[in-house]
Amino acid sequence: MSDSISVLMTASEAHPIVKIGGLADAVGALSKHLKALGTDVRIFLPNYLECRFESVKKHDIGKIRMGSRVFEASVLETHIESVTAYLLDIPELFAREGVYGPRIDEAHEDNLIRYAAFCAAVPVLCSALKWQPDIIHGHDWQSGLIPAFLRQHGSSNAFLFTIHNIGYQGDFSIDHLKDIGLNRHQAEHCGLILYDKLNFMAGGITCGDQFSTVSRTYAREIQQQQFGFGMEKVVRKHAQRLSGITNGMDYDEWDPSHDKNIPVNYSHTDLNGKAECKRLLQRETGLEEAEGIPLIGMVTRLVSQKGIYELAHPYHAALESICQGQKVQVVILGSGERWCELELQAIQERNSNCVAVIGYDEGLAHRIAAASDLFLMPSLYEPCGLSQLYAMRYGSLPVATRTGGIADTVRDGKTGFLMKHANARSIEHEVSRAVRLYTRNPSQFRTMQIQAMQECFDWEQSAKEYLDLYTRTIAWTAKYPRDI
Ligand code: ADP
Repeated sequence: MSDSISVLMTASEAHPIVKIGGLADAVGALSKHLKALGTDVRIFLPNYLECRFESVKKHDIGKIRMGSRVFEASVLETHIESVTAYLLDIPELFAREGVYGPRIDEAHEDNLIRYAAFCAAVPVLCSALKWQPDIIHGHDWQSGLIPAFLRQHGSSNAFLFTIHNIGYQGDFSIDHLKDIGLNRHQAEHCGLILYDKLNFMAGGITCGDQFSTVSRTYAREIQQQQFGFGMEKVVRKHAQRLSGITNGMDYDEWDPSHDKNIPVNYSHTDLNGKAECKRLLQRETGLEEAEGIPLIGMVTRLVSQKGIYELAHPYHAALESICQGQKVQVVILGSGERWCELELQAIQERNSNCVAVIGYDEGLAHRIAAASDLFLMPSLYEPCGLSQLYAMRYGSLPVATRTGGIADTVRDGKTGFLMKHANARSIEHEVSRAVRLYTRNPSQFRTMQIQAMQECFDWEQSAKEYLDLYTRTIAWTAKYPRDI
């Protein structure tokens, strides 16, 4: 059936056009692999100022209406390798600094309108292109209103909704319903109201045909109060329509044997190049050039999900204890909450074995994976997590929390070091466990590195699982047609 399925992938990011986090990697790579399996897959995303692409064609798709608001819209057509991508061009909504907000921890005030218009544009785009995909695959809350607008248009495309992070739900005051042209009755009918707020994600789950998330463990976790961010009851209610498919990683982009972002290539059969990458990163960051000191890397958005309070807040201070109590070097790359950026810089000033690079730097992210011996991910929750997959491929052993996709992909004592909870004590304890192995038993450490590098998290397998899920979703939609 795969070669007869057509898919419109809708997302707020897609690598390499625009990327804030793992969502972009997942959407770009999944699309490429579905295409390779014979699927007619096309991507739809907003045309932000940050988008990098060469446009090949412009299509005027006409008017997008939401209540009294009307947007005159066009799409710019481009390609991610062999996959067609359409970028929704509404300059007043998308052509400005910052994808989601002026800073990573600040949202644009009109995000409700921006992403409602994005969702409302989907049926308009399909009509204008005279292309009705068998299935629309929407990612995260920014796509959550699509099924409601499909209903409004009387469209019969199947809709699959994938949750990449339930911590971001797109919830807004109910007073804004009129701004997107829906009345309370319609919004309730489409499951858009949660705790008396308009909630995009609730709409995607309730009103879509099937929904999924990006690892099996996270599919279980989001049904619990601890991880559900208030959505757990909705998830439990609809759990018979929920699947968990673990993300793959893109070996075209992330493989030390051919990665052009790293100074020396290497593979699991010869790690000499990795030692050279370490030496060069030590030089680049001004750290002592010493092979025998374990280098701990971390590349992350600096947001609470990633365990930054436990790590860097003076109250918990795990990072400072590690830097002062253990013979290690630390290189952290990240941007996000301002207090944390400032705190990391202060920790760097107080500790000559710690370097904090504040900002976003794709090349440096690769160099850190290649140079480091250990990769720190003390996440409070991690839906899938791509960083630990990249780290393992580069022979950098994750020191990470046993949660979500990390629990599904890292084997404790074999390919990494897992802690049960991300509190300061556990972080320090797990880092010292890893450092002890590195210094006292280098051959076992090396065995673990080689095991980690040989793990396979191929997108092809995940893409096949998505194809099965598409088939099931299409069959479901045929069996239970939407009431309009
Ligand atoms: P999330 O999607 O929650 O941010 P993931 O681990 O799934 O976490 O994906 C993070 C992705 O973003 C990885 O590709 C990582 O290398 C990249 N990334 C995060 N912060 C930065 C940064 N400051 N510079 C470069 N890449 C970054």
